Amino acid sequence: MSGVARAGILAGCVAVGVLAGDGARAGERADAVWHPKDPRVGDVAWLHVRNLPEAARVEGSVGGSPLTFFPYAGGHAALVGIDLETKPGARPWGVAVLEGDRKPRTARGTVRFAPRRFPVERLTLPRAMVDLDSDTERRALAEAQRLTAVFRTVTVERLWRGRFTRPVGGTVPGTGFGARRIINGAPRSPHGGIDYSVPLGTPVVAANTGRVALVAEFFFPGRLVVLDHGLGLYTLYFHLDSVAVSEGERVERGQTLGSVGASGRATGPHLHFGSQVGTARVDPAALLGLALGD
Ligand SMILES: [Zn+2]
Repeated sequence: MSGVARAGILAGCVAVGVLAGDGARAGERADAVWHPKDPRVGDVAWLHVRNLPEAARVEGSVGGSPLTFFPYAGGHAALVGIDLETKPGARPWGVAVLEGDRKPRTARGTVRFAPRRFPVERLTLPRAMVDLDSDTERRALAEAQRLTAVFRTVTVERLWRGRFTRPVGGTVPGTGFGARRIINGAPRSPHGGIDYSVPLGTPVVAANTGRVALVAEFFFPGRLVVLDHGLGLYTLYFHLDSVAVSEGERVERGQTLGSVGASGRATGPHLHFGSQVGTARVDPAALLGLALGD
């Protein structure tokens, strides 16, 4: 069987453990390690398949969702985004290493997504910003769908390198990730990013190297920039006052994207900073702490 044909079959099997039929001996198992070992809801975790030639191809999945691997530190790694509304608990995972005509090496197991407690925030906003007329509601829905379409696009090249950096200067921590929001007494979608309370006009910089995937002015996020860092990883910058980049442009880590504002639904100037692994909304603080270097 050709490597390609094997790959096609394996891609459908790894998650359900059919690979046991391979009769793999201990020496044929792939060496795969989770970082962190016990990822939490909202984390950016990664799976490291070690001791591989760069030419090897790795396929895998977690909980039935396919992973995108890239060469890393003498092996291959894949990011795993655990959406902030994911149900905690065990998920099956599996990987298959494909090297030419060699029999595929496999590894599989179960990873537990640990629960995480999120704060509850009660906000009072002007009614016009909350109770939308049907036109505005339609607009907001179409804009949300446009963002989702961007996040579903996986650029096969890894554009980011090294550590992710804060999008604003100073040391004020970003807050509010995952907060269950109660606006004017009614529960709303949880807060998908972190907010930095910094003055109007503060420069906003790219958290890492990437490509500008979207520049727009949307109802809730206001003036926004979305950066594509490759392999399904995106960072989001909302409520901007000004934007200094355009769609398609390549940006370097630390490059100015625009300035902090209060556009869209904002009670005052602040930067809303979000991160996505595909459609999973993950904690930007976890991204800033990602111990996956060059
Ligand atoms: Zn926010």
